[in-house]
Amino acid sequence: LAAGVEFGDSQALSALLASLPQTAAARQAAAIVSGAKTKLRKKAAIPKPAGPTREILSPIDGSAIGAVADAGTSELPQAMDEARAGFRLWSRQPVDERAACLDRAAQRLEAEAPRWLRLLQLEAGKTLDDAVSEWREAIDFLRYYAASARDRWGSPQSMPGPTGEDNKLHCHGRGVFVCISPWNFPLAIFIGQVAAALVAGNSVLAKPAEQTPLIAIEAVALLHRCGVPASALRLIPGDGEIGAALVALPGVDGVAFTGSADVATRINRALAAKDGPIAALIAETGGINAMIVDATALPEQVSDDVVASAFRSAGQRCSALRLLCVQEDVADRMIAMIAGAARELAVGDPRDVSVHVGPVIDADARGALLAHIGRMSAQDKSGAITHFTGTLPADTPQGGFYVAPHIFELRSAADLRSEIFGPILHVVRYKASELDALLDAIEAKGFGLTLGVHSRIEATIAHILDRRLAGNCYVNRNMIGAVVGTQPFGGFNLSGTGPKAGGPHYLARFCIEQTITINT
Ligand code: GLU
Repeated sequence: LAAGVEFGDSQALSALLASLPQTAAARQAAAIVSGAKTKLRKKAAIPKPAGPTREILSPIDGSAIGAVADAGTSELPQAMDEARAGFRLWSRQPVDERAACLDRAAQRLEAEAPRWLRLLQLEAGKTLDDAVSEWREAIDFLRYYAASARDRWGSPQSMPGPTGEDNKLHCHGRGVFVCISPWNFPLAIFIGQVAAALVAGNSVLAKPAEQTPLIAIEAVALLHRCGVPASALRLIPGDGEIGAALVALPGVDGVAFTGSADVATRINRALAAKDGPIAALIAETGGINAMIVDATALPEQVSDDVVASAFRSAGQRCSALRLLCVQEDVADRMIAMIAGAARELAVGDPRDVSVHVGPVIDADARGALLAHIGRMSAQDKSGAITHFTGTLPADTPQGGFYVAPHIFELRSAADLRSEIFGPILHVVRYKASELDALLDAIEAKGFGLTLGVHSRIEATIAHILDRRLAGNCYVNRNMIGAVVGTQPFGGFNLSGTGPKAGGPHYLARFCIEQTITINT
């Protein structure tokens, strides 16, 4: 490190690191941040960043709320060189100093609540309720990973050994991490991945979802303001092609990805095909999440929990309920109750506090969901029974991407073959004697993210849980909204690699461990 800079002096260190050469993308991002802010606050012209820009549309009404200049593939090698230089400096900062940057960011996020909530509503179409819980989760991730890093890596762990020998286990960053995050949690998952990678000592090239770069631009600016050096964290806005080009770059030491199982599989293949060091992959993907409701379950509670799990966030959580499995004896009553509760949901502009279901993210998502609804409604072809068809109220904003909740009953659990990412619930009935066959059908889907169980028979609950069908199992409650540090979140099989976000083992995957043995 350059003379005169103390490790603990983050300002001096940031200044030193910021003096390293900047990529065009970083310069553009700085321009865009101010542009996006201006546009979001008042409808003024955006100072044009150099190069072509792409407008970002609000899912609320399809209006342009900002613009972003996506990174080009030709900039990536230089971004990687700078990230390597950033890693060398950042990884040598004491853990306490790295953690302090996260704590400062948490404090600022907390203090700036109205701005972040508004951004989440405008860019991601979140209801106020969802925006608040996402903002809260982002703060929790920052504080939780800061605290875990201090606890675990504040100093090396002494290992037992013979007299005359000193054995210590050290944890260090792996190198350069590529973090690729989704649009459904553009603040919490974006900042969670980046914070974990950074506090573990890595430098980061962060690619936010194509639909939600403005929140990411703000989040990166926040972390920079809180002491994370520019060369340790770069934003690389762009589409899937840029993501693929990033993953393919030589010198990637790890990838943290949240998104679809298909893309995770592609990333896994791309990393495996590269020469050189074996990069770590941390993937959190989707699921065809089931809830099993037997005849002893409390109907009112089931109804509340099903509606929250299937329709909150317009069904755009990877934890959301997709397949409700109800014991035949109570199915008619239960389905009628759930359809009645769904009828009470207000769909529309998420800035209206009485709205429960806001828009889906974009026109493509809406198109795919409407196509699925069309297929399911064609009863003669699909064999599905329509139990509830929501409608959009007359005052739904024009130009927005809205899909009303729907409930379809399928002939069998096997009929739901893919994850339908929106406010559409599928239901199947099962006989008590068929429970094991139902569990086999759920397992056969190959995912393993969330599972709900509603029963008052302990043996039934234990039997279902014993099948280990999902990374997060919720008994007699809803199945969304895992709390950082309380319900470590993430699945297995096609749903992800683990370890779990917001859990005690998450940071370990972002590290290399080094044993140092000294003959004293
Ligand atoms: N952690 C969120 C939850 O428990 C879901 C995250 C996601 O959708 O990727 O609801």
